[in-house]
Amino acid sequence: MCDARPVIEVMKLLYQKGMITVLSGNASARCGDVFLITPSGVPKNDIKELSVVSLNDLKWRGPKPSIEYKMHALIYMKTDARSVVHAHNPKAVLAAKLGLPLDPSEYVETAYAIRELARVPPLEAGSEELARRVAEESTRADVILLEGHGAVALGKDPYEALNKLEALEYLAELALLERAVRG
Ligand SMILES: [Zn+2]
Repeated sequence: MCDARPVIEVMKLLYQKGMITVLSGNASARCGDVFLITPSGVPKNDIKELSVVSLNDLKWRGPKPSIEYKMHALIYMKTDARSVVHAHNPKAVLAAKLGLPLDPSEYVETAYAIRELARVPPLEAGSEELARRVAEESTRADVILLEGHGAVALGKDPYEALNKLEALEYLAELALLERAVRG
């Protein structure tokens, strides 16, 4: 999968759906020993070119990659994921903050989309610690909720990873509505 278009399209969709702000979030796709990743500091609704990062030495070609490029690299080193997408799912972040249970097996759509949901505690964006913790969880979970931050999903392509992030947001919305209705 060396096509940049799905990565660029997924970022537009995340922005349109309010799951990232115009300069946040990132997505990548693996092609052999390199991965294509969204650049740093470019509006997510108007990405023209992706960075190409080597999995051998983490050097890149093209524009400067997202600050989370090490997280993407470590996930590709540890799993067979072909794409990794990171968004800031507002409802999932809030539901986690409120301590609401988020169990994908509770609903048909989320059970179908998400195999395993893991969590990591609040950690600094772009840090080695965040990259390491998320990559560790990615060996057993295909969606990782980053408390106080957002979520990361692994997929066979960018659309599958996006679908998992949307399923997580749907699950969180139902959890928040259930809390509101029950009081
Ligand atoms: Zn982030």
